[in-house]
Amino acid sequence: MSSDTLPSFIPPAGRVAVLGAGPAGMAAALSALRAGHDVVVYERYREARPAGNILNLWPPPLKALGLLGVDTDDLGAPTDTQFRNRRGRVRVNVKQDAEVRAAYGGGFIGLLRPELYERMLDALPSGVIQFNQLVDRIEQDESAVTLHFSDGRTVEHDVLVGADGIDSLVRRTLWGDAPKREHRLHIFGGFTFADVAGVGPNMCIVSHSSTVQGSWTSIRHKGRDGNQWWVLTATDPAAPPPPDLKAAAAELAAEFPPPLPGLVEVTNPKNVQRWVLRDREPLGQWSKGRVTLAGDAAHPTSPYAAYGAGMSIEDGYFIGRALRGIDLTDFAAVRAALQSYEDPRKPHTSRQVQLAWRLGKVFHHVPAPVRPLRDLVFDYTPFLQRIAGDTNPKQINQQLALIEDW
Ligand SMILES: Cc1cc2nc3c(=O)[nH]c(=O)nc-3n(C[C@H](O)[C@H](O)[C@H](O)COP(=O)(O)OP(=O)(O)OC[C@H]3O[C@@H](n4cnc5c(N)ncnc54)[C@H](O)[C@@H]3O)c2cc1C
Repeated sequence: MSSDTLPSFIPPAGRVAVLGAGPAGMAAALSALRAGHDVVVYERYREARPAGNILNLWPPPLKALGLLGVDTDDLGAPTDTQFRNRRGRVRVNVKQDAEVRAAYGGGFIGLLRPELYERMLDALPSGVIQFNQLVDRIEQDESAVTLHFSDGRTVEHDVLVGADGIDSLVRRTLWGDAPKREHRLHIFGGFTFADVAGVGPNMCIVSHSSTVQGSWTSIRHKGRDGNQWWVLTATDPAAPPPPDLKAAAAELAAEFPPPLPGLVEVTNPKNVQRWVLRDREPLGQWSKGRVTLAGDAAHPTSPYAAYGAGMSIEDGYFIGRALRGIDLTDFAAVRAALQSYEDPRKPHTSRQVQLAWRLGKVFHHVPAPVRPLRDLVFDYTPFLQRIAGDTNPKQINQQLALIEDW
């Protein structure tokens, strides 16, 4: 049936371009396809390659993935999360509603990033992602967006979703450049499938000493149970990485109770990685004309939130929903749709970005004389429970009600 014979309330498929095949780009592509548009994802590398291994997902992105046609069956290990001090004293029980627990098994799903990518790629029709496509310039007018590739080619689309990560070309083009915000923190993370004494199933333990975070969670990867861990502390972001990542991680883990030191010990050094933590201050506006932003391009988030990929997936889901039923040749309609996508996303994502930034400061950059007082407050008052155990999971899970089938 040609578009001329379609009923007047079904607009013809529009041409959506997505820049970047990370979680945001793949989710946006799945969602825009579901909305009935033609979609091309342009990815600079020769494959969709996960930057790192360790990952946790909250229930809202899992729900969005399922609705977008991604197989979430037996994806990851559901966990119950506790915050503890260095000696094992429980500071926070992260609360989950009974219905969320019944539907998702726990609060936080521990998995390895490659499996998420594989499952999202499996859900995308072949040919939607075009690899080895480095875009180095974009421009737009009221009728189209033009992408310029590094080899001189150009293509036109009706809408562009910039899902091109923390160093986003699209964000820079729309809103100018600004230095990243240095958290002056670095994180070492790894995973193992080896048996280690003291590891319980379906657990996520986030522990803090006076300057170091030492954490581990259960994972499930392709039907195999294991654990991932991370240690995080202050650093000079300009300093070179330690020559032996596993040895540096083991040194940081040493002050924590079992099983953390043992998990680091049995981890294969090739499964240990390190990142310096950076983000950007929240933007007041994401979309301009026919172009919008998603994921880290819109709201790069410190791993302290463990929610950057989750929010990227949510963004993708909401973009497609906003473009459903929209005639993408209609400039005013496109602008209104993109605005309706970003308006509810900004308060939620900004809150998470800023909370992660503040937690990093409170746990790792408080002056030494103040640390004992801070730790007394965290150990003996409900302050941390209220923020990390009650309010934050509730705010995250409010997204569940907004994510529905369409
Ligand atoms: C140590 C660590 C732990 C983390 N843990 C968690 C966690 O537990 N839970 C969680 O939810 N999040 C976590 N995050 C955050 C999460 O990794 C990011 O928020 C997420 O990857 C962002 O996804 P994205 O699709 O927006 O961007 P990216 O994953 O950065 O993807 C961007 C894509 O765009 C492509 N691209 C860029 N520029 C161009 C161009 N000009 N032309 C073509 N292609 C281009 C890139 O090659 C890339 O494929 C963690 C991050 C780190 C560093």
